[in-house]
Amino acid sequence: MPNCISDKMFALTQKNSAVREMFEEGNRLAKLYGRENVYDFSLGNPNFPAPARVKEAVIDVLNTEPTTMVHGYMSNAGYPDTRKAIAESLNKRFGTAFSEANILMSVGAAGGLNVILKTLLNPGDEVLAFAPFFLEYGNYVRNYDGELKIVPPNLPSFQPDPAALEAAVTAKTKAVIINSPNNPTGVIYSEATIRALGAVLEKKASEYGHPIFILADEPYRELAYDGAVVPWITKLYRNTVVCYSWSKSLSLPGERIGYLVIPSEIDDYTLVFDAASIATRVLGFVNAPSLMQRAVMRCLDEETDINGYDSNRKKLCDGLRAAGYECAEPQGAFYLWVKTPCDDREFAQTAKKYNILVVPGTSFACPGYVRIAYCVSAHTIEGALPGFKKLAEEYGLK
Ligand code: PLP
Repeated sequence: MPNCISDKMFALTQKNSAVREMFEEGNRLAKLYGRENVYDFSLGNPNFPAPARVKEAVIDVLNTEPTTMVHGYMSNAGYPDTRKAIAESLNKRFGTAFSEANILMSVGAAGGLNVILKTLLNPGDEVLAFAPFFLEYGNYVRNYDGELKIVPPNLPSFQPDPAALEAAVTAKTKAVIINSPNNPTGVIYSEATIRALGAVLEKKASEYGHPIFILADEPYRELAYDGAVVPWITKLYRNTVVCYSWSKSLSLPGERIGYLVIPSEIDDYTLVFDAASIATRVLGFVNAPSLMQRAVMRCLDEETDINGYDSNRKKLCDGLRAAGYECAEPQGAFYLWVKTPCDDREFAQTAKKYNILVVPGTSFACPGYVRIAYCVSAHTIEGALPGFKKLAEEYGLK
């Protein structure tokens, strides 16, 4: 008997997210063995609390601003003074010349990506992503009847390969999603890489007679270690839209707050900005959360404290390398991307024997690796290392 839900949603109900599945498995194991004996590296949920400044800012907003402002509707693009403050902060950091007219408040990076994809895509348009990538991209692109095309991974550096991009672009390519610092590899795309990708896109755009956009998905921008620089892409490629969020930088993933940067220099800027404002409305977001817009504008100078993540990164990376594992150089975000000695799904399954939960690379369109999210407590890292060592021995890594 036919069911009453749409075919697209039916397909999604049949294929749950592997990350979420692992997270649920973690909850099941925690009930059996106790939470402290389960080493759950499945979800990118920051374990460090939001900085004290966020709480002060929220209290300050509630105490000092009129309630209509704190809880009210505003223009779909967001509060003008919030957008202006963000533009000025970006200009100070990156030497750009943005104004509030370039900033559109969004419901996290996921909301921002959906808004810009709805703005740009016609049915059948293609969007490219470099493997491995955050698998929700496919769902977001299909929301607007676009097609996500995968550019194969470039091993072992995991810097996107311009030649592979060139081979993947077709007349239907509308946009390329770039995520750096990267989930799941932790790799930061270098300026040379971005310039080379930009050169390919310029060439292809003029060959096909229409612009190809870079959508720079940057929720991990602030998480860069050892002084690594995350290039600011609007300065390197003209038709770039940046999707930012405070989910990771201020540990606010549930608050759903971020923004799009839509530079005045992009093709059809006015139309794109107006359409993105309307997309925010018609997708049912209407606007980004008002209280959070008021709060984050008070936190723009807040430095993200990356010391805890950095110490986890070093402990985990050193421990795993000593046990015989190979991993991509983790320069940013809070993920370690580890080569598996067998099928990645089998490895993730075997790891459960030691109460260790990791996500198979297959879930990021790149088999042969697993992702270990180290946004966890130091206890989790320390407790898991003996299990990882036994796993390595089981597979003869050392
Ligand atoms: N993009 C990437 C690469 C992510 O890893 C995530 C969340 O984990 C998102 C987007 C969604 O971020 P947000 O919570 O800001 O919507």
